[in-house]
Amino acid sequence: MENFRKIIQHNREWAAAMKAEDPDYFEKRASRQEPHFLYIGCSDSRVPANVVTGTEPGELFVHRNIANVVLPSDLNVMSVLQYAVEVLDVKHVIVTGHYNCGGVKAAMGNQSYGLVDLWLQPIRNVVRWNKPELEQIEDEQARFDRVVELNVLEQLYHLSETPVIQNAWEKGKRPLLHGLVYDIHEGLLREIATGVDSQEAADALAQRRQSGVPAGPPPVMGRLTQPVLAGDALADAIAQRVMDRLNVTGGSAKR
Ligand SMILES: [Zn+2]
Repeated sequence: MENFRKIIQHNREWAAAMKAEDPDYFEKRASRQEPHFLYIGCSDSRVPANVVTGTEPGELFVHRNIANVVLPSDLNVMSVLQYAVEVLDVKHVIVTGHYNCGGVKAAMGNQSYGLVDLWLQPIRNVVRWNKPELEQIEDEQARFDRVVELNVLEQLYHLSETPVIQNAWEKGKRPLLHGLVYDIHEGLLREIATGVDSQEAADALAQRRQSGVPAGPPPVMGRLTQPVLAGDALADAIAQRVMDRLNVTGGSAKR
């Protein structure tokens, strides 16, 4: 309880300090927000979004989850994305991973952690798809670091495939997508991919994110340029995609 009280006490001190510096500090921000950035990062307590990016309240729209995963089936991240892009009109979407990420480490091992295993499945896939490259890296830490980077590329690509981003790009060159990795030893953000602003740039990203697997057909969810399918038509389309994929990978469904 004592530690919890400290949080309230620090809040009081912080609010008083901000007001002392600028009496209108909170009033200026109370009526609306106009952030230029959507930040998607890991829930890890060592990577506080505003602190490491040097941003003030009102500058960063934030979504965090274990290991900064971006999945089209996750209503939470998709809602945040839609609101940020279509309502707040953010100029940049940043996926930020971090070295020594516990979620990524769990996905690299065989131990079961219960429900979170389901969440980490996309990262297990990243490990599987990049096995040829990862097996070349002898140093365990270096291999771990590489999976963190590949995971950021993978999630960035997922982002580029969402209807929200596809739709925004149809209308113009925004938002720009960026992939960063935070080095918790140095406190520095490393740029893994920057300025992804088109399907061509996203496709180039796709080449980098899966070093061991040839580029296959796009993911099942499809793109906005194609008609939206439902019911039997959707089932048929998915079945067709699966068949296409089996053919492309020479009989073994790697993805
Ligand atoms: Zn993490």
